[in-house]
Amino acid sequence: MSVSENLKELHSSLPEGVTLVAVSKTKPNAMIEEAYAAGQRVFGENKVQDLLAKQPELPDDIQWHFIGHIQTNKVKFLAPFISMLHGVDSLKLLKEINKHGARHNRKINCLLQFHIAAEETKFGLSYLEAAAILQTLQDEPLPFVSIVGVMGMGTFTDDIIQLRREFRTLHEIFIKLKTTFFENDERFKEISMGMSGDYHIAIEEGSTMIRIGTTIFGERNK
Ligand SMILES: *Cc1c(COP(=O)(O)O)cnc(C)c1O
Repeated sequence: MSVSENLKELHSSLPEGVTLVAVSKTKPNAMIEEAYAAGQRVFGENKVQDLLAKQPELPDDIQWHFIGHIQTNKVKFLAPFISMLHGVDSLKLLKEINKHGARHNRKINCLLQFHIAAEETKFGLSYLEAAAILQTLQDEPLPFVSIVGVMGMGTFTDDIIQLRREFRTLHEIFIKLKTTFFENDERFKEISMGMSGDYHIAIEEGSTMIRIGTTIFGERNK
C-alpha cells in the first residue's frame, strides 16, 4: 500500500484526541511530501543532522517533533523551529533548551522521557528523578520551556501483558505528576507512547500521541 493509503487507514482507526506523529527517520523527502499531501502535518525525526537537512526543503507548516535523545550541544540547532522535544531527561538539558528558547523568543514544548522498559539501554527518568527536577523548577522556573507531558518506549517484545503494564505505569506517572506539579497547568496533557508494533495497546492505556514509522512508510533499512 502507498503512504497515503496507510495514513488513511491509520487515521480511520484512531480515537479522537490521539495525535499521530509520522516518524519519517531515514525516509526520503519524497515520502514525507506524499504524507503531507495526504494531510499529515506532524512528523518525527530522531537524528539532528537528518532533521536539519530535511526541514528547509519541506513545507513551513510541518510541525517537527524530535523523538530521539538530545545532546545538549545540539539544542541550539533545533531551537529556532522545533515543535516538540520528546526525549528530555535532565535538568541540564531543560536549562539548555530554556537558554536557546530565550534567544529565539520561543517557548519550547518538551516531554519528559521515562524509563518504562525492561531493557537497560533505553534513556529516561524515574518518577523520583522527575519529581526532583520539577521541585527545582518550582523555585527557579524556566520561562522558555513548556513541559507538556511525558514520553516512554515499551520493551521490544511481543508480550502484550508486559507492554500493557509498562504503558499503564507511564499513565500513572503522568497522573501523579499532573496532580502534584501541574494541577492548574492545562498545557501538561500529553502521554506520548505507542509505535507501529504496540500502538493499539498504548491507546487502550491512555496514549494521546503515537509515534508511527513502519506502518506508514514501510520497513527501514538497517
Ligand atoms: C523509530 C521510532 C519510532 C517509530 O517506530 P516504528 O516501529 O517504525 O513505528 C517511535 N518512537 C521512537 C522514539 C523511535 O525512535
